[in-house]
Amino acid sequence: MFATYEYRIYPTKEQLSVFNKTLGLCRLYYNLVVEHKNKDYRMPIEGYKPTFTKFKPEALGWLNDVDSMPLGQVWSDVRGAYTNFFSSIQGSRKGKVCNRPTFKCKKICKASFRYPVQKMCVGLYSKGLYVSSRLGYIKIAAQSQFCEGKWKNITFKRSASGKWYVKICVELKEEQTKIQNGKAVGIDWNCSDDSFLTMSDGTKVKCPRFLKRKEKQLEKYQQVQSRRFVKGKDVQSKRYYRAKSKVARLHEKVANQRRDWLHKVSRELANKYEYVFVEDINMQKMSAEKEHGRTVGDQGFGLLRQYLSYKTNLVKVPAQYTSKTCNVCGIVNKDVVLGVKQWVCPVCSTQHDRDINAARNILYLGVKKTLGGGPAEVLNNARLQNRECPKPSVV
Ligand SMILES: [Zn+2]
Repeated sequence: MFATYEYRIYPTKEQLSVFNKTLGLCRLYYNLVVEHKNKDYRMPIEGYKPTFTKFKPEALGWLNDVDSMPLGQVWSDVRGAYTNFFSSIQGSRKGKVCNRPTFKCKKICKASFRYPVQKMCVGLYSKGLYVSSRLGYIKIAAQSQFCEGKWKNITFKRSASGKWYVKICVELKEEQTKIQNGKAVGIDWNCSDDSFLTMSDGTKVKCPRFLKRKEKQLEKYQQVQSRRFVKGKDVQSKRYYRAKSKVARLHEKVANQRRDWLHKVSRELANKYEYVFVEDINMQKMSAEKEHGRTVGDQGFGLLRQYLSYKTNLVKVPAQYTSKTCNVCGIVNKDVVLGVKQWVCPVCSTQHDRDINAARNILYLGVKKTLGGGPAEVLNNARLQNRECPKPSVV
């Protein structure tokens, strides 16, 4: 099992210059391979390894200023990208679609490069992080959580606002222990902020909506940025870049707040329950929607699922009819359409809250899926224990 730790770093001027040169060369190398491979796709990918020697001999001189390890990693990335792409069109990836590798743009590409950990001397010392003799010791933020385990690789990344971070990927010696108390919970997700998450035990979690809170401020900053933009100019004014960085910093702050909150929510759930059941929804599709896309992205339910998947046992269940099925008798009530918050079951006349009922159905489906009905202690809802599988009868 792998884990990644991220720390802020504070490179010196000399280190920064090496970082920026490495970024540029990595991008150049990747783009050259893509350019020539697209021109002559019949040549096997291995033939592009000495790309600089073949197509850009002057770049060989620039290599003296940087470490060669990140470029080796770029080669394995681009080779992997092409292997995946070709096996995807041949259909051997079982329906997984991999797109053709495209050029990396200086302006929008993720600015990062990676070092493999081969030498023994790479590590964290009292002077800082040591990666290579060219870089020396890099000042690193206080390590509250030291990364234990065997180091696999080290990634340096620059955020949109210009801060530098290091991500250390480690292989853990033993699996992280997940809580084992036999308890399970079903979670219904809702696009509205008041009932962002509804648990099967009836609790509701409100969503703080971090981006919405800063919307006004963001608008102001963006207006300043666009006012200072001069059309047709390659290099903009200093004032423009200052405004751009302000926008980026605000976005970064919002993302950090959201991540922090979601980590807290998922940790609380992971400490309480052994199993967490959620609906199997395609979040990517939802966030691309015109109406709710912004809300979906701001709430970060997809991210929460991702955090839960490694903190606890996350199981996805099909989302069909979870709102319309009565969790007591199992009939499907077609009258429960979008917007109906409360309803009474026409068969057993139980009064239902839409979200709590859905969450209980999700819990039931999840228990059935993972444990096939399972040990009684998993079923922390007494009603569920006595219930039969919901029959698809329609009223
Ligand atoms: Zn009923």
